[in-house]
Amino acid sequence: MGTFDDVMENARNAAQAAGKKIGETADITKLKLQAVSIRGDMKRIYESLGKDMYKMIKNGKLAKDGYEAETEKLDELSNQLSMTLKLIDKAKGSIKCPVCGQSCSHDSIYCKKCGSKLK
Ligand SMILES: [Zn+2]
Repeated sequence: MGTFDDVMENARNAAQAAGKKIGETADITKLKLQAVSIRGDMKRIYESLGKDMYKMIKNGKLAKDGYEAETEKLDELSNQLSMTLKLIDKAKGSIKCPVCGQSCSHDSIYCKKCGSKLK
């Protein structure tokens, strides 16, 4: 052993091992990105299913058995959201159309979207 050929052989093996390792790392990174993407797709579908379920519960098409707490919390958050949006409109000096919900300037008489009388 210790010949030039052995040294070259060892160097070649080391280079191949390093190359393989880099390739594996790239594969792992690719697979991790794929997993993140799949997780994102699943999350969107779960979210959509949840929204549909909530709508069905609100329409009485689905019993809220076992989902009372979630349904109540969503009702509460929905109320909080519309109050917050109203406060934003108020702070901006705008008023909401009682018919279509369009945000209009506080000095408007008619809704810019549907033409309903605002006051
Ligand atoms: Zn309107």
